[in-house]
Amino acid sequence: MSNTQIRVRFAPSPTGPLHIGGVRTALYNYLFAKKHNGKFLLRIEDTDQTRFVPGAQEYIIESLNWCGIKPDEGVGVGGEFGPYIQSERKEIYQVYVDELLKKGNAYIAFDTAEELEEIRERLQKENNETFLYGSKYRMEMKNSLSMPGHVVNEWLSGGKPYVVRFLMPENEDLVLHDLIRGEVKVNTSTLDDKVLFKSDGMPTYHLANIVDDHLMKISHVIRGEEWLPSMPLHIILYRAFEWEAPQFAHLPLLLKPDGNGKLSKRDGDRLGFPVFPLRWPLNPTEEEIASGYRESGYYPDAFINMLALLGWNPGTEQEIFSLQELVDAFSLDRVSKSGAKFNPDKAKWFNHQYLINKSNEELAAESIPYLHGFENKFDKETLERVCGLIKERLSFIKDIWEQVSFFFEAPAEYDEKIVQKRWKENTADELKVLITILEGINNFSAEECEAKVKEWITNNEINPGNMFNVLRLCLVGAGKGPGVFDIMEIIGKEESISRIERAAEKIIPV
Ligand code: GLU
Repeated sequence: MSNTQIRVRFAPSPTGPLHIGGVRTALYNYLFAKKHNGKFLLRIEDTDQTRFVPGAQEYIIESLNWCGIKPDEGVGVGGEFGPYIQSERKEIYQVYVDELLKKGNAYIAFDTAEELEEIRERLQKENNETFLYGSKYRMEMKNSLSMPGHVVNEWLSGGKPYVVRFLMPENEDLVLHDLIRGEVKVNTSTLDDKVLFKSDGMPTYHLANIVDDHLMKISHVIRGEEWLPSMPLHIILYRAFEWEAPQFAHLPLLLKPDGNGKLSKRDGDRLGFPVFPLRWPLNPTEEEIASGYRESGYYPDAFINMLALLGWNPGTEQEIFSLQELVDAFSLDRVSKSGAKFNPDKAKWFNHQYLINKSNEELAAESIPYLHGFENKFDKETLERVCGLIKERLSFIKDIWEQVSFFFEAPAEYDEKIVQKRWKENTADELKVLITILEGINNFSAEECEAKVKEWITNNEINPGNMFNVLRLCLVGAGKGPGVFDIMEIIGKEESISRIERAAEKIIPV
């Protein structure tokens, strides 16, 4: 591997938003390239014009950009092997299809879609057989192998639409090597004569893909498992051109969280998590069809970290990796053969880990847009302290308000269950005494409040567990939040006392 320059590519088709499985393919290509000082290319495979979706190419580029998976070459970057969009390479493919025709590795076929459908249906009905346009039937079809030359020429000059098909060699046992799956054996008679060139003058995926991989000097093809069945055809195509084939690695599927099928948008909708990196469509003024990780509040590095471990493992217990650490640790031989089950809770866990590892200063800055107009209520240090106190309870910064609202405004209501359990007949009277204790504290720090309140509790034989819950109810309105004395220090003496007074007036024991 050391002699050849490592060059890999991510080659998506712009047929819609990029699935997270596609992002993982891009990521593994990127990690492999960086690990081996190679190049990572982005090529857009848009030869199937019927499946082209406007906006998809921009979506792919923006997704990779958000994830920090930067191509060294390709669409949006340039490079010496361009253009990197296949529809802009039409003339190039024509040359290669002509070469295969000349060499006798391909032939012209005139069968219409209706004729193909008819034989497909007939064979299905008569023999329960799946029609393959290949060694068994090609001589019964309308093509340049089965028809006299002069008729072929007449039809061509008459403008009859045609495709070019690959002439698949007959009954050859192939033993192919995949870097993840090992040996893959196949007999060529089970393969059909794939269309390489369509009547619209465009190559198919198969031809364009291998011509480009060759011309762009791709050393390793790392792609999804769904392309494994195409590997034999691709290898034979390389052979027909007398080109050296790249090495292949087919990545395992991403599976549903609950079951064995491939992870789909429907699973995301059903179980409430995104299967796309960004919302689709990107334009926020249009109605959202699918949600994205970015808009759900994920940090791109947490998202990438989570994806990296879906199908690859470092061989250690380590789970948190920066992109550079992933580059250093990555190897294809630790990519598993079997599918990786997607776990939405684990995805959240990753984001939580990245969030708690941020400094309070960073979190405070990030929290500003989510503070509902209260962003100037506290000074910078206090806001940082608030963030530090609650971050263990937070997975996404955009949800911070739920965890901090009580620092900014007094509770409007009180949790009924806690009232029922904790509010006794004498609670209001006890709180009146507590207020006098708090009024006597000059330095209203968490430590001082804690010392004085505990002293009062002990001296008066008050049930401490119950009183702390009551206090929390007065300050927060619920049973959540960090330590009550920290809350008291942050909101201050006056506000603490006023909240306790209000609760003592408002809450009536049942
Ligand atoms: N255009 C193919 C896709 O959309 C690329 C397959 C490959 O990497 O060879 O996935």
